[in-house]
Amino acid sequence: MGTNWLPLQSFPREGRRLVLDDPRVWEDPIAEFGLACRIVEPLRAQMQIFPQDRGVLFRGRLTGTIVLPCVLCTEDSLVVLDQRFDSFEPFPADPALREERDESPAHEVDEAVIRITPHGGYELNPAGLAWEEFSLALPVNPLCREDCRGLCPLCGANRNREDCGCERPEGDPRLACLRDVVLAGKQKNQDAARGRDAEEKDHGCAAE
Ligand SMILES: [Zn+2]
Ligand SMILES: [Zn+2]
Repeated sequence: MGTNWLPLQSFPREGRRLVLDDPRVWEDPIAEFGLACRIVEPLRAQMQIFPQDRGVLFRGRLTGTIVLPCVLCTEDSLVVLDQRFDSFEPFPADPALREERDESPAHEVDEAVIRITPHGGYELNPAGLAWEEFSLALPVNPLCREDCRGLCPLCGANRNREDCGCERPEGDPRLACLRDVVLAGKQKNQDAARGRDAEEKDHGCAAE
């Protein structure tokens, strides 16, 4: 991740304005996390950072345009970002203090954003803040278009472009496994009935 640790003491109480438009701020973590994301219009985060007693308050705006794979057909899904944010990042607890209070490491805050210096001060990584906001701004289910028809589950054809003509599986595919269970159960009953028929012929009572 693009890192540029700034000592928080250097930030005035009334806030400091920062603009992050170096492509590496996003390109490095995109590569690091293997994110299928392409930047088509430069990403830019402008923020105002206010040091507080227990953490850092930051407000700003993130803009840019990216391409993500559509969740249904994997074709390009264009995502225009224009996100305002207003967040608070608490200071990480001093490791020595935390041990004393027997706090679990689960309370640990993201060390990629704020860290404690060996001298007991704090350092801030604005690129980490920008990346956090970027991650939050990403759509969970990007679509190439509202009515994307997805890929054919049988032959893999993109149904937005062609009608492959495959027979659609009957019923709700999510219930297919249940249907198999029911069929298997029925089969078992029939087998059992057949077995019984062989033993006692003309019993006359079907197990259907
Ligand atoms: Zn699609
Ligand atoms: Zn098909």
